[in-house]
Amino acid sequence: MLTCKQCSSVAACPNCDVSLAYHKTGAKATCHVCGYTQSKLVCTECGSTQWQGSGFATQRLEEQLRSHFPSARILRMDADTTRKTDGHATLLNAFSKGEADILLGTQMIAKGLDIPNVTLVGILQGDAALGRPDYRSIENTFAMMVQAAGRSGRSSLGGEVIIQAFDVRHYAVQYARNQDYGSFFNHEMKYRHQGQYPPYTYLIAITVSDEQWDKARGLGVDIALRCRGDESFKTLGPADLGKIKGKFRFRIVCKGKDLAGLKAFVRQEILPIKRKSGKTQISINVSPMGLQ
Ligand SMILES: [Zn+2]
Ligand SMILES: [Zn+2]
Repeated sequence: MLTCKQCSSVAACPNCDVSLAYHKTGAKATCHVCGYTQSKLVCTECGSTQWQGSGFATQRLEEQLRSHFPSARILRMDADTTRKTDGHATLLNAFSKGEADILLGTQMIAKGLDIPNVTLVGILQGDAALGRPDYRSIENTFAMMVQAAGRSGRSSLGGEVIIQAFDVRHYAVQYARNQDYGSFFNHEMKYRHQGQYPPYTYLIAITVSDEQWDKARGLGVDIALRCRGDESFKTLGPADLGKIKGKFRFRIVCKGKDLAGLKAFVRQEILPIKRKSGKTQISINVSPMGLQ
C-alpha cells in the first residue's frame, strides 16, 4: 500500500476499486487487477509526489526473515518474482534442488510440487479469506491450510506445521489442524444446508458491467426485478461489485433447486435483454465456482 506523506491518502488504481501495491524492484506502483503501472505518482488529493510505501507483505516478511536468520538462503515467491512465464517453475525447481533454506511466498506455494526435505511449514494469517462474503470461503480456507500443511514432513526427517489465524476456534482451522476431512465435510454441509447454498441449491450469477455507473446499476435493477417476478427461485442483488478495469459491475444471483427451470428462465427472460443491451455487458455464469 502507498500512502501520501502530505495528506495520508492511499494511492488507488484509476481503473479499479483497489489500492496500488508498491514494488521495491523498479520502485513503482502497480495494480494487481489490471496491470496499471506508475513510477511518478501524483497524489490526486493534494498534488504531492512524496509517498510512503509499506511494501508487499511478502517483501516485509523477507526483511524480517533476513534479520532473524542472517545465514539462511531465502527464496521469495509472489506475483512480483514469478511475473516471467516460467518464474514459478524456476523458483520451485531451485528450492527442491536445495538451493535455498527457506521458501517464502503467497498461497501459490501451497500448490507446489512434492518437496521431500521440507520439515517445517508456517501458514500466516491462514484464515484471512474467511472475511470474504463468499459461501465457499470456508471450504477454500480449509483446503488451502490442508494443502499447505501437506508440504511438510514428506521424508523420514518428519515435519511440523504452525498455523497462525485470527480465530483459532473456527472449525475450518480446527479441522485443518487435525487434517480431519470427514468432520469438516459434515460441519460444512450443515452450514451449506442452513444457508441453502450449493450443493443444496443451484446458482446462476448474472453480472452487468458498463463504464457508466448508472447504466450498469440501472440494467442490474431491471434484471433483478424481472427475476423477482418468478417466485420459483430466490433472487439476490443487485450487489455492487465495484469498478474493475474501468467498468462498474453489478451482480444478481438466482438461487433455486431446479437447475433446468433456472436455465429456462434465463434463456427466455435474460438472453433477449442481453442481445440488445448494446455497450452494457451482461455475463451469465451457471453454477459459478464462487461468489467473490
Ligand atoms: Zn496527498
Ligand atoms: Zn487496476
